[in-house]
Amino acid sequence: MHILITGGAGFIGSNLVKFHLNQGHKVHVLDDLSTGRKENIQPFLHDPNFHFDEGDVLTWSGLERAVSGADVIYHLAAVVGVFKVLKEPIEVLAINIAGCERLLRAARNSHWQPRIIVASSSEVYGNRPIVDGEHMPLHEELELLITPGINTRWNYSISKLANEAFAISYAKEHDMHVTAIRFFNVCGPGQRGRYGMVVPRFVNQAVNNETITVFGDGSQTRSFMDVRDAVKALFSLANTEESAGEIVNVGSDSEITILDLANLVRKLANSDSVIEHLGYEEVYGEGFDEITYRRPALQKLQKLTGFKSRYALVDTINHLIELSTAVNEIDGDVSLVCSRA
Ligand code: UDP
Repeated sequence: MHILITGGAGFIGSNLVKFHLNQGHKVHVLDDLSTGRKENIQPFLHDPNFHFDEGDVLTWSGLERAVSGADVIYHLAAVVGVFKVLKEPIEVLAINIAGCERLLRAARNSHWQPRIIVASSSEVYGNRPIVDGEHMPLHEELELLITPGINTRWNYSISKLANEAFAISYAKEHDMHVTAIRFFNVCGPGQRGRYGMVVPRFVNQAVNNETITVFGDGSQTRSFMDVRDAVKALFSLANTEESAGEIVNVGSDSEITILDLANLVRKLANSDSVIEHLGYEEVYGEGFDEITYRRPALQKLQKLTGFKSRYALVDTINHLIELSTAVNEIDGDVSLVCSRA
């Protein structure tokens, strides 16, 4: 089986590479190394089943050839990470939207009929109100919320919504097997904290006995999926006939507040770190709209694939602490990492 992964030198992409090489598949990665890192794919460079091209999905001349002959394509190449999204609002729209369309057009022209997974994001659900202290899991049929404002976080959701629309339209109009997946928070080995990504940041801070930086009061929630589970879920979806033309949540439904996460990491790392709260404006700039909760409904994923997560959050954090691979580049003061968008 031939696999093409755009953005394959990134965190999720490189874990997909490992997964497919272990299955004996041939894997081709296209990555411009803007957020992806060569060291993520370094272990595979001498594997005869692995091929890497450094190139941009918008301009790389080999794309049409790479697409023809691929049985499964994962389109992950995108500008990602809250800090980066706020810093590069135009690139987020231009690269994420046009890159996806170019990839799908190339796949349509190839007549090879690959299975294609297009990465979308739980960001498209927006910041939903909590009613009477209750909040519902986010299921795929919900109406979506895009809140315009001075802050450009929403450029990311807009770009990912456009990707979903392309995926569904190509599936429908050209009878292609395209599935858009909405990633919820994914964490695990190889993830960096430079562009946000709370788990590697907290693990890195805790193992170094540095201050753990909780943004806001820490009552916001997230649900974290181990990347080793995420790659299996993706391949299961690619392997499922019924996933064509569908939008599917991929994540874990075990939810935790960010303050509880900070305490958990500190405890598991046996750390002396103190927890400090930083205001959102201080960190992200004026007008930042924090997502107050996030937990996926997973019935659709389970119905389509029977998938169940193997790793609990505690397992992942322990693994990261053990490996000390939460290689994190907090450049001094985290509040300065992100300039105002
Ligand atoms: N966060 C935090 N401290 C950090 C980094 C992130 O408290 O050093 C918070 C962030 O404000 C958000 C949550 O952790 O509420 C998850 O942030 P991340 O950037 O990992 O993902 P996203 O916001 O996209 O879900």
